[in-house]
Order: sequence, then structure tokens, then C-alpha cells
Amino acid sequence: MPRPRHPPLPAAPTAPATSAQRQRVRVVVEAPQHSGLWGALDYLSEVALLPGELVRVPLGRRVVTGVVWDADDAQADWDAAALKDVAEVLSGLPPLPAAWRKLVAFAASYYQRSLGEMALMVLPPELRQLDALQWLRRRKRLDKALAEPPPAATAPVLPELTEQQAAALARLAGPAEQPFLLWGSTGSGKTEVYLRQAQRTLEAGRQVLMMVPEINLTPQLEARVAERFAGRRIVSLHSGLTPAQRLRHWLMAHLGEADVVLGTRLSVFTPLPRLGLIVVDEEHDPSYKQQDGARYSARDLAVYRARLESVPVILGSATPSLESWFNALPVAEGGTGRYQRLAMPARVGDGIMPTVRVLDMSRVLKPTMGQEPPPVALDLLRAIEERTARGEQSLVLLNRRGYAPVLQCTDCGWKSGCPHCSAWRVFHKQDRTLRCHHCGFTERVPRACPECGNTDIQPVGRGTERLEEQLAAALPQSRVGRIDADVTRLKGALEAQLASVHAGEVDVLVGTQMVAKGHDFRRITLVAAVNPDAALFASDFRAAERQFALLLQAAGRAGRDADVAGRSEMWVQTWHPTHPLYQSLRDYDYAAFAARQLEERKMAGLPPYASLAMLRAEGKTQEAAQTFLREAIEAVQPLADALGGITLYPAVPTPVQRVANIERAQLMIESPKRAALQRFMAECQRVWLDVAQQNRRNGLVRWAVDVDPLSI
Ligand code: ADP
Ligand code: ZN
Ligand code: ZN
Repeated sequence: MPRPRHPPLPAAPTAPATSAQRQRVRVVVEAPQHSGLWGALDYLSEVALLPGELVRVPLGRRVVTGVVWDADDAQADWDAAALKDVAEVLSGLPPLPAAWRKLVAFAASYYQRSLGEMALMVLPPELRQLDALQWLRRRKRLDKALAEPPPAATAPVLPELTEQQAAALARLAGPAEQPFLLWGSTGSGKTEVYLRQAQRTLEAGRQVLMMVPEINLTPQLEARVAERFAGRRIVSLHSGLTPAQRLRHWLMAHLGEADVVLGTRLSVFTPLPRLGLIVVDEEHDPSYKQQDGARYSARDLAVYRARLESVPVILGSATPSLESWFNALPVAEGGTGRYQRLAMPARVGDGIMPTVRVLDMSRVLKPTMGQEPPPVALDLLRAIEERTARGEQSLVLLNRRGYAPVLQCTDCGWKSGCPHCSAWRVFHKQDRTLRCHHCGFTERVPRACPECGNTDIQPVGRGTERLEEQLAAALPQSRVGRIDADVTRLKGALEAQLASVHAGEVDVLVGTQMVAKGHDFRRITLVAAVNPDAALFASDFRAAERQFALLLQAAGRAGRDADVAGRSEMWVQTWHPTHPLYQSLRDYDYAAFAARQLEERKMAGLPPYASLAMLRAEGKTQEAAQTFLREAIEAVQPLADALGGITLYPAVPTPVQRVANIERAQLMIESPKRAALQRFMAECQRVWLDVAQQNRRNGLVRWAVDVDPLSI
């Protein structure tokens, strides 16, 4: 199938139009929500412009990049004298397609942001800074790069599909009006299914958008995709690229030159003229939700975009989000039946999931007051030793980095609090610092207690650094390594550490959730979660769901090779061995776990049975933050009453109340109907802008709306 060519560069500057043709254009420029400037601005243009073209326009004293939004409405009444002229046009860039503009407009209205913020935020940062001349030069360079042919094709040997893969692919070949939920165990071959469906899409002359939750996972997938689709142009899009790379990759996608785009959440906005398939891998992963600015969910936008552009979308996971699971449950089973569920419970080949051993800590250890417990139960230590002796590897999971979460004076009880936050500072032994994980405030560990001068200050509790040290001491025969955000801060450090694990230079790997995700370790036959209980009692309603996903994903790191699969084990150290979460984990019964969670959510009126939004505020004092929230709510209560079905909850301090000397508070807005909540939130924006204006001098610093929040 011939590839549609991108438009050639214009030979000469576009001829100026006669004054009779002077056109009014509506241009969207970057303007934050709080500016109150939410729509497009009017400008005059000498040349005819199409919606989606990029222009440079004067805004105040600057010239900024904007997107032409609407074609001129000749009937409308407008005063040419009052309008400024478009400064220049980035010619040679095909207009951003109508589907792109619809997606951006939907995202802006759904997540309660200004159109300009959304539209400009999702363009490559460099593109927003180029003037017309710089852009032309850039474009010429790209044309040169595109003239080079993509790498030569060699036909890869494809594995024979498993029965379950074949069945899933048969369904994927059928009608695709509904999103697909590919529910497959880790190692069931979901990626192979994505690749086969991508193959079909490419053969039909279309482009594929494949999303992964984390930047760290893109190189792996990129290698696999590149190997499979040699001869095709494959580009990645994530925040780790240089601005120039990001612009080049984005352009290749937008010009229709790239066949496959691999990216993190921001890639959901990539304009793709020949889009034919969207894949969202590990769709349950919280990284798909942006946590600041425009708090969009790339997973949910992918579903919206697929419908908008009439292309299939595959959401893949071993532990789907409860929202997606609920949508894939048939109506007869209490779900919505909106998605098609494709199940792949079996691992490829002879791979079986490791046997789960729930270790009752109250039987193993008698906790003695004031004494640190041993690093792990003795039985677990022995099991790890056995692995090392056989040349196999163990993975020990602890979701807390640093040496100890707090230091304490044995005499007066002083603790290493952060002076700027309502949180403890974490002791990092490696560089002997106390670091606040909320505001970053770092100091050297004091020699003596700052309160009483006692030199005996002790770490309390433990993080990965300490666990690594304890395991190294308890397991003299094993080489112990660690992977967490501290070890991998330097560029290339994660790759280096992973390579040494793969090369067998590490027997026991200590890590945070970072290691549980996606990595294909071949020799790991034991995975242990040493302190997973905290999530059972967390106030956040999604904590259990997240913990279950993490443990299952971690278990999936073990026994990936058939020759070791039979003796692989997942150990869970718990004080609550009968907790249903562990029961479901033991049976690898996600469906049972999800059913119980849904039951609880239904009773509590929480998602997916209700829609939520959070109104968050930050102030110089807690009082300032809460006053704004109170007034904001009072101002819209009549509206809520008129609409009906909207519940406004009282303002409360956030779980970590003070960060970097700023006090935080929030309140929840709930409705059983998503559409009702949307209507309400849209009405609230103007009102809250005014309330915020009045509250500025009372110490309100910032406020924001979070639609479909991940945590409350
Ligand atoms: P998932 O994405 O579900 O975790 P993968 O697609 O990564 O699973 O597959 C796990 C492993 O099995 C990979 O090494 C992959 O190459 C291999 N694999 C996938 N499908 C098949 C198949 N049909 N036959 C043989 N090996 C396969
Ligand atoms: Zn003291
Ligand atoms: Zn702090």
C-alpha cells in the first residue's frame, strides 16, 4: 500500500491575500485555567488559514505560538480595527487534524482546563518556541532524514500462537466498536497479541499507537517492536527525549511517516493521520494519570480517541483497573458490558505462576519491645540461601526507599521531622543525610540530638538501603544488589544495574515497586514481599487494588523460564494471613478479588459506581486553604441542589498536610452520574475563579480541580 506523502515545502511564501480576503481567525494560545481565558482569541489574517494550522500571534508584549481553531464565520459581526494581525504562519506543517482538535477540546472540558493550556501543552515543547524561519530550517533537516530509507527488512521467525492468543486475535479481527480488555496473566503473551494485531494494522496501511506506563519500559518494548517490524519506521515519545528528538519523532508521526509510535501517557495526543490501532499496556498503572497541571488520564483518553477515530483499542493487564474490569463485566454479572473481555489465564509454554506462601509473622516472630525485628523470617532466609546455592536469583520487595523512615533520640525522643512539612525526614545512610521525600529538604545527619545533645540517635523502621545491608549480613554467600529511585537517579544507572542482574552478578535483588514492573528476569525463582501490610489499612480506597496489582506483578517476575517455573515461589510476610487480599493472591484469583472490591465500592458509593472530583487548595495557613474551599462550596451549593444528585463533602486537610511550608486541604465532590458531575463542574469554574480572586489576599496560594482522582 503506498504511503501518503506529506505535503512538500511551499516554493515561495504564500501570496498575500487582497484586503477583501482579510479573514478573521480564532486562535488558541497557551493560557492557564486561572487566567480566565478559556477559549480562542480573534486575530486577522492576510492569508486564508485552515483550522489546525500553527501560527505566531501577538499576545500582550510577546509573540506566541497558537493553533488556528475555527474557520472564519463570515456572517459574524466583527470589528477589524479592534483585531491584531497574525504575525506569521508555520507553513509546511499540515494542519493538526480535526480529530486531534476534538480530542484536545474534550480533554480540556472533561478535566476542567483551558483549551489553550491543553492544546499547547500536548505539542512538542520545541515546536512552541520556533518562529516561522526556524521552523522552515528544522523542516528541511527533517526532510533530509526522511529521505534515508528505514532499516532493511528481515523476516523474523514468529512463535506459534498459543490457543488463547489465537482466540484473542480471532476476536480482535471481529467488530471493534467496543474497546477490548485483554486480561492476561503476566507471561501469557499479551505483547505477542499486541504485535500480531499491530502487524495486521500495518499491513492495512495504518499507524499504531502503543502506550506503556513508564519511560523505563519503553526501550525494552522498542527493541521488541523494532525486531518484529524491521523495515518500518518506529518512533518513541516520552519526556526522556531531547527537545529536538521529541519534535522529530512527533513530526514523523504527524506527517504519517512513522508507522509505530511507542510512548508514555503524553503520546495519546500524537496526531496520527493513518491511525489504525491503540494499545494501552498495563492499563491499570497509575502513571497513566497525570498528577499535576492538567490531570488527564491517558488510558481514558485513549478509549475516547479510539471511538472518535473509529479504531480498535486494546487495554491490557493481568490486574485491570476496577473501572475497566467493571466495564468488561457483562450486565448479567453486574457490570456495564461496554468492553469486550479477552481472557488469557495461562502462561506461555510450561510457565506456571509461582506458588504463593503466606507467612504468618505472628507465628514466626515474637516481637519484643524496642528491638528491631530480624530482616526477614528465618524460613525465608533459608529459602533465599537455597536459591543462591542453585545459581538462581531472588527478588525482595520493599516499597520504601532510604535506610530508615525516621531517626530518633534514645534519650529525649526527638525525631527527624522536616521543618517545612508535616512529615519525617528519611535517613539515607549512603551519604549520611536526612532527606524529606516531600519537599526535598536535605541536611547532614546531626552528630548528636539537636534537642538534648545525646549522641545515641537510632534509625527506626527500615527502607531498602537497610534491608540490603541486613540481607548482605545475613546471607554471606549471596551477592546482594538494590534497585530503587536512589540507585537509579543517574542516567544509565538503571540499565547498568539491570544488566548486572541479567548477567547473573546479583543473587538477591532488593527493590521498590520499580523492579516489579515489566522486567523480564530469567533466573528469578523467588519473590518476597517483606512488608506488604500497610496497604491493607490505608485510608485511600484504591490502596488494596494497587497492592494486589503490585504483588501479582511482582510474582510474575518469577519462573519465567520453563525449567525453573515448577519450583518458583512468592513469599508474603504478613501479620494478617487471613486477609482476603492474600487469599485471592494465593489462588491468583483476580476475579474474586475484584468482585469483593466492587462490592465494597458499591456500598461506599465509590468509583466505578460513582464519579468523583477533588477540589484542592494550598494556602499560607490551613485556615486560608480551608476558607477558600468552604466559600467555594457555599457559592455552588445552590447549583448542586438545582442539578440534584451532587454531594459536596466538607473540606479536610490532605493526608500530608504541610509540604514546603504550604498548607494543603481538599474536598470531594461526588455524583452517581458522570454527566451530572461534568455539567456541575463546568458551571463551577467561573464561580471558583472569583472566589479564589477574593481569597488571594487571605493567603490562598493555589487551587486546582482533579477529575477522576487516583487518590482521595
Ligand atoms: P506478557 O506481555 O503477557 O507478560 P509476553 O508477551 O512478554 O507476555 O510473553 C512472555 C514470554 O513468552 C516472552 O518471552 C515471549 O517472547 C514469549 N512468548 C509469547 N508468546 C509466545 C508463543 N506463542 N510461543 C512461544 N513463546 C511466546
Ligand atoms: Zn535527645
Ligand atoms: Zn519537607
